[in-house]
Amino acid sequence: MKVLVINAGSSSLKYQLLDTANQDVLAKGLCERIGLDGKFTYKAPGKTTIKAVDVAMPTHSEAIQAVLDALVDPENGVIASMKEIEAVGHRVVHGGETFAGSVKIDDKVMAALEECIPLAPLHNPANITGIKACQAVMGMDVPQVAVFDTAFHQTMPPVAYTYALPYEYYEQDKVRRYGFHGTSHKYVAQRAAEMLGKKPEELKLISCHLGNGSSVTAIDGGKSVDTSMGFTPLAGVPMGTRSGDLDAGILEYLMGKHGMDIQEMVSILNKKSGVMGVSGVSSDFRDLEEAGAAGNQRAALAVDMFNYGVKKFIGAYAAAMGGVDAIIFTAGVGENSPEQRLDIASGLEFMGVEMDEQANKVRGEETVISTPNSKVKVLLIPTNEELMIALDTAALV
Ligand code: ADP
Repeated sequence: MKVLVINAGSSSLKYQLLDTANQDVLAKGLCERIGLDGKFTYKAPGKTTIKAVDVAMPTHSEAIQAVLDALVDPENGVIASMKEIEAVGHRVVHGGETFAGSVKIDDKVMAALEECIPLAPLHNPANITGIKACQAVMGMDVPQVAVFDTAFHQTMPPVAYTYALPYEYYEQDKVRRYGFHGTSHKYVAQRAAEMLGKKPEELKLISCHLGNGSSVTAIDGGKSVDTSMGFTPLAGVPMGTRSGDLDAGILEYLMGKHGMDIQEMVSILNKKSGVMGVSGVSSDFRDLEEAGAAGNQRAALAVDMFNYGVKKFIGAYAAAMGGVDAIIFTAGVGENSPEQRLDIASGLEFMGVEMDEQANKVRGEETVISTPNSKVKVLLIPTNEELMIALDTAALV
């Protein structure tokens, strides 16, 4: 089935046309600066790449139209007509407690998505705009599916998702751990089971999605049982520019001392903290490795703090699940940094982790990077959220 996967942001829209039969990516690209000057990028195997050309995109509808025009273009396109697109899968950030899985979109689902806006005020409105734009441009007959970042984590037990706050904040205000990157964690967990030749139900996994945003998830029997991100994606390990977990008492202290309001404080926690904040150099781990190697101690500290943070979650989740069969590394850093994988896994020999340094010298390829004798397997698995969205969409349609 040909499925168009859409990831709509407030001023951008990523797209991929996939054939779920053979899991081929037929075309992909990006619409940027929607509402401003509109830039369009398109890439398809064997076709001319279009890179950031000007296309008028006052709204997401024109962006979707530009995508469809490119896909059916007689010369550069990959399908003969729009009718070949049998379904659209949308990435939606927050499904609250309403959605524990992907769902075919109808009026009731749209209303429920609107209800989730307060939980993700920056992301969900853009996702909804993307859905409405597809409905407007493609018509209501093309089935659309919502795939949520939070859904995979809805299997967490109360002991993992409840915050130690007055209970009414959970009951009335829905404040709890939701977790994110669920599509990625679910995908790599499924791949891990296949690589190990086991059923998901037989496995205790810890998946480390380490990118600009990072999260670690405990997956027991194919179900997420705990995850490092929380009510928002600010929690857990230190990230590119996000602080990760910290003592909430720091907020009052810093706000008082520097006369900041809560917006300024939260903006610092989201945009100026993490490895960027500590190093003062960059949020990009490649820059940090370079700076660290050249003797910049804060850059080295930032990377060490990140690796240490991930290691601590691995230990915590092994304890929470009463063991672990495999640890998975994925996303930008997890897929591309042998050094960081090695550093994170070092010291875990006591629990049966034995890295294979030779096998670990690999980037972006499904590989077992532990020794054959390692009791706990360590796996590198490139994530593929678009494919997961397309497969979920095809299954529902
Ligand atoms: P996002 O959360 O934006 O999707 P990605 O998963 O693309 O992030 O990860 C981006 C991060 O991956 C960047 O910090 C980048 O430095 C890091 N990364 C990419 N390639 C490498 C590499 N070869 N070595 C170390 N880090 C890398």
